[in-house]
Amino acid sequence: APGAGASGNPAGLVTPRLDAGLGPVARLAAQAYLRALDIYAGLPGAVISRGVLQLAATDRDAGRFARIAASDLFPEGTLRLLDPAAASARLGEVTDRAGLDQPGALSLDPRGILEAWCRAPSAARIQSLEPTDGGWRLSGPSEPQIFRTVILATGADLRHLWPAAPILPVRGQVSWVAAPDPETPRAAGWGGYLAPMAGGFLFGATFRRGEASTDLTDEDHRANLESLAKVRPALAASLAGVALGGRARVRATTRDHLPLAGAVPEAPGLFVLGGLGSRGLTWAPLLGEHVAARATGGPSPLPGDLAALVDPARRSAT
Ligand SMILES: Cc1cc2nc3c(=O)[nH]c(=O)nc-3n(C[C@H](O)[C@H](O)[C@H](O)COP(=O)(O)OP(=O)(O)OC[C@H]3O[C@@H](n4cnc5c(N)ncnc54)[C@H](O)[C@@H]3O)c2cc1C
Repeated sequence: APGAGASGNPAGLVTPRLDAGLGPVARLAAQAYLRALDIYAGLPGAVISRGVLQLAATDRDAGRFARIAASDLFPEGTLRLLDPAAASARLGEVTDRAGLDQPGALSLDPRGILEAWCRAPSAARIQSLEPTDGGWRLSGPSEPQIFRTVILATGADLRHLWPAAPILPVRGQVSWVAAPDPETPRAAGWGGYLAPMAGGFLFGATFRRGEASTDLTDEDHRANLESLAKVRPALAASLAGVALGGRARVRATTRDHLPLAGAVPEAPGLFVLGGLGSRGLTWAPLLGEHVAARATGGPSPLPGDLAALVDPARRSAT
C-alpha cells in the first residue's frame, strides 16, 4: 500500500542537499529543493512546520555553508548564515556551532502527500515483470495485465523487479515522543535531525549500511538519543526513561549518492524513479516530473546535463 515503505514516517524534513562544488550536482539539488517547496505549498495538509536550522558539524561545514550561501544557486533569502549565538537563540539551547537557517524548509507529513496524490490506488504486490508483445506483463495476485509503459517506484525493493538495479539498502529508524504543542521544539538538522510531527516530535535517524531489517530496536532508539544529545543535550536528558515510539524502514541509495530517474537501460517502455536515499522528499517532485516527461515523450524540466546525472544507465551509480 502507499506509505508501506520509507515514505510512511509521520514526519520528514524537506531540506536542500548542500553541495559546495557549486557545479551541476549543486544546480540539480537546488532545482529539486525549490520545486519541492513550490509543490508542497499546494498541499497545506502535508506541511507540519516551516523553517529548519542546519548546524555545522565541523569547521569545514561552516566554510561550506558560507560558500553556498554566498553563491547564486538559490534566490536571496533562501539560506541565511548564523553565528553560534544566533544559532543558539534559534535552536533553543546553547550551541558552539555555526548554523544555516533555511526559512522555507519544511517538516512534512509524507502520509498527507500520499493521501492527496494517491487517493484510491489499485494496490497489489507485483511478483514479476516480463517484456512481451505490446509492453510489459505484470503478474501479481490476480490476472496478469499488460501495460505499454511501466514506471518502477518500488523503493528498496527495486531489485525484485529490476535485478540489475544499482541500489544499496540502508536501514534507518526514527524515534518519536509526544509533546504538547507549545513545547514542540523547532526543526533542526546536524547529520541527525529533529522534526515536529502531529502531537510531538521525531528525531533520528540511524543509518545502517547493508542492513534491510525493519524491526524496531532499543539499540537504534539509544543511537538516536545520543545523536540528539550532541546538539540538544537538555532536551535529550529530559527524555531519559520516556517510552519512545518509532519506525524502521530501508532507504535505497546509490554509489554516487544520486537518484535513478529515467529510462531503465535496454528495456523499452520501462522507467524508474528510485535510489532516493535519505532525501526522497526533496528529490521526488522534480524527478517525478522528469520521469513522467520521459515516459510520455513530453518536455522534461531538466536540462540535458542535469538529466544525465540521474540517468539510470550512468556508470557512476554502480
Ligand atoms: C528512517 C528514515 C528517515 C527518513 N527521513 C527522511 C527525511 O527526513 N527527509 C527525506 O527527504 N527523506 C527521508 N528519508 C528517505 C525517504 O523516506 C525515501 O527517500 C523515500 O521515502 C523513498 O521513496 P520511494 O517511493 O522511492 O520508496 P518507498 O517509500 O519505500 O515506496 C516504495 C513502495 O513500493 C511498494 N512496493 C515495493 N515492491 C513492490 C512490488 N513488487 N509490487 C508492488 N509494490 C511494491 C512498497 O510497498 C512501497 O509502498 C528517510 C528514510 C528513512 C528510512
